[in-house]
Amino acid sequence: MKEPMIESPLARLSDEQIAELGREFDAIHEEVYASLGDRDASYIRNVILLHRQLVLLARAILLGSRYKPAWVLGTSVLSIAKVLENMEIGHNVMHGQWDWMHDPRINSNSWDWDTISPAESWKHSHNYVHHTFTNIRGKDKDLGYEIMRIDPHQPWNPVYLFQPFYNLLLAAFFEWGVGVHDLDFDAIRAGEKSKEQVLKELKGIGIKARRQIVKDYIAFPALSGRKGYKATLTANFTANMVRNLWTYAIIFCGHFPDQTYTFSEEETANETRGGFYVRQLLGAANIEGSPIFHVLSGNLGYQVEHHATRRSRRRSATSASATTCLTTVARSSSSSAPFSARSCASPSLAVSRRQSPARTGRQRSRRLHR
Ligand SMILES: [Zn+2]
Repeated sequence: MKEPMIESPLARLSDEQIAELGREFDAIHEEVYASLGDRDASYIRNVILLHRQLVLLARAILLGSRYKPAWVLGTSVLSIAKVLENMEIGHNVMHGQWDWMHDPRINSNSWDWDTISPAESWKHSHNYVHHTFTNIRGKDKDLGYEIMRIDPHQPWNPVYLFQPFYNLLLAAFFEWGVGVHDLDFDAIRAGEKSKEQVLKELKGIGIKARRQIVKDYIAFPALSGRKGYKATLTANFTANMVRNLWTYAIIFCGHFPDQTYTFSEEETANETRGGFYVRQLLGAANIEGSPIFHVLSGNLGYQVEHHATRRSRRRSATSASATTCLTTVARSSSSSAPFSARSCASPSLAVSRRQSPARTGRQRSRRLHR
C-alpha cells in the first residue's frame, strides 16, 4: 500500500526560526522556573491537605455504606479525591515538577500514588519514554498504547476491528493498562528484554497491585463491618472506575485528537532543541475548561505547555499565549511571517497570525489520503 502523504510541519519553519524558537522557549522556561516560590509551595501543600481531608471524609461516610445515601455521597467524595490525587498530585509530583522545593516528602524520588502502577515504572515509561520521544512513531509507546491504531501510518490488522470494544475496557481499567505499560510488549516480543528483567518488573507490578487490592477491596470494606463490606467494596471499585475513565479521557484528548502530528524517526534524527519544542507543540493538544476542571485534570488541559515546560506547574501568561500562537503558526499553511515566542504573546500579533488559515480536520484528512 502506498505510504500516506503527510507534509512535515517542521518543513514549514526555517532552521533559524526553529533555533530562535528553542532559545526563546528556554528563556521563558528559566524565567518561570526562577519565579517559583512560597506561593507555589503552599498551593501544592494545600492540595495535598485537601486530598487527605476528602479521603478522611469519604472513608468516614462509607462506614455507613450499606445505606444508599451514604454510599452515593461517600463514593462521590472518594472519586473526586482519587481524581485529585492521581492528576494534580501524583502525576505532577512524580514528574519532578515540585522537586525545586527540596521537600523530601513532596518529591519525585519518594512519592507513590494510589494506583496499581509502580512509581518507578511509570517514571520510566512516562517521564523518560513519552516525554523524550513524544509522538515519534515506534518510540513513543503512548501512541495507541501498543494495542490501538490511532494513526494512518500504523499498518492495519484485523485485530483493530475489535478496537472499539477493547478501547472501552482500557478506559475502564486504565490504571492496569498504565501499570503494565512499561513492560513494553514490543521489546519483549523482539527479545530485547531479558527474562530476569521482565520477571523483576512483573514482581514490582504484583507487589503494588496486591497493596492496592488489599487496601480497596479487603481492609477498608472490613471497616464497614460484615453488613457494609460489600457496599464499601463496590464504592471503592466505582471510585477507581471514575478515576480511570477521567484520566483516560484527559490523556487521550491530550495527544490523539485530529491535528496533533506524529513524527517518523528519520524526521527527528538530527533534532535540535528548537525542533524538540516544535514537536511538543504539534504533538499535544489543549482542552478548554473551568479552573476546577484544570485542577482535576492536573492542569493537563494545558498539555502543550506541560510538554514545553514540564518542570513547573505555573505557566506564565507569556508562555501560554506564546505556545497557542506558535502552534497556530506552525500548523497553518503560511509560515512566511516572522514570529517569535515573545512577540507571539502580543495580542495584536497573535490575532493577525490566527487569521492565517489553520487546517481543519477535513483538510488534513484530504492531505493524508492524497
Ligand atoms: Zn506528563
